[in-house]
Amino acid sequence: MRAVLLGPPGAGKGTQAELIRDRLSVPHISTGELLRSAVEEGSDLGLQAKGYMDRGELVPDDLVVGLIRERIAKNAERGFLLDGFPRNLAQGETLEKMLEENGLRLDHVVNLEVPEAELVKRMMGRGRADDNEETIRSRLAVYHEETAPLCDFYRQRSVLREIDGMGTPEEISARVIAAVG
Ligand code: AMP
Repeated sequence: MRAVLLGPPGAGKGTQAELIRDRLSVPHISTGELLRSAVEEGSDLGLQAKGYMDRGELVPDDLVVGLIRERIAKNAERGFLLDGFPRNLAQGETLEKMLEENGLRLDHVVNLEVPEAELVKRMMGRGRADDNEETIRSRLAVYHEETAPLCDFYRQRSVLREIDGMGTPEEISARVIAAVG
């Protein structure tokens, strides 16, 4: 299974990715986690990415693509679950090209739908470094401007599955697994 978890910040992509990875034993690739580890390690990439992340902006495409290209290539045959990538149309097109080169395509793109008030509540309760009010506001704006257009992109390719993202993590993962399983 090659799948993408889409959805606004705070929708529960990371939580769902872990639950699905455990259930379907498919590798989970999270660009947000990879970037946070790079920042912690103080690598060149981490130093370059940190400012964007602190401001709630997208890290430039070439950095993010460089970070996951090999991980995707390595798991392309076996399958993967992407969480946090793609985040804009250019990344969506890059991913499509990478898979096409190997004669592959995505099976499912799951869009977790959660009302904005609930997203803010969840992020405020999470306490991550970039979960302050100002950064949350800019991440939501970036989502609407850059990431949401991917819904149409994937709808046109008939792989979009819209899932109600309200409820307990287990309730939501049952819906996701029913949609992709
Ligand atoms: P996340 O853990 O997915 O919420 O990502 C946290 C932060 O990492 C985002 O606010 C961005 O600054 C950055 N980030 C994660 N994934 C991407 C991506 N695919 N493209 C650009 N920036 C990203």
